[in-house]
Amino acid sequence: MNIVTENMENDIIKITHDQILAKKRAYYQANRERILLRNRMYIQRKKEYDSNYQKRNRHSVALRNRKYRLRLKQKIYDILGGRCSSPTCLIPGGCTDIRCLQLDHINGGGKREMKLYGCSTGMIMAYAKLTPEEIKKKLQILCANCNWIKVHENKERVCKYF
Ligand SMILES: [Zn+2]
Repeated sequence: MNIVTENMENDIIKITHDQILAKKRAYYQANRERILLRNRMYIQRKKEYDSNYQKRNRHSVALRNRKYRLRLKQKIYDILGGRCSSPTCLIPGGCTDIRCLQLDHINGGGKREMKLYGCSTGMIMAYAKLTPEEIKKKLQILCANCNWIKVHENKERVCKYF
């Protein structure tokens, strides 16, 4: 005959759980300083390890960052249609070769934004957080030719040779 009912089993588990918690609390109170010191040491060692990891694996870290940047860029390109949006593009229908596509600020101000975010990666990371509507309002894709033609026509950059 089984004399342990379901309720009794629950009671046993509850008591054991409470006892374990009480034991853990007592241990923490008794060794608080030692535990806190150990945690601080762990964080310090982890920081040192991470900073050394960056130095030791500079090449693979750079490669990983590059892949991450390209993934974000691809996401923005997909939202914007993935082709040059200039109606006068030399390639019919707009250039689609990713090697010569560039992100263009529709109303200018790219240089100012670059200063704000520090580098192009920072800028792309910030754009990737925007909604597709905000991206479409702010950016367009142009091929390198169309982008430079726009720069000269709108006098976005002063160049003494043209
Ligand atoms: Zn074009």
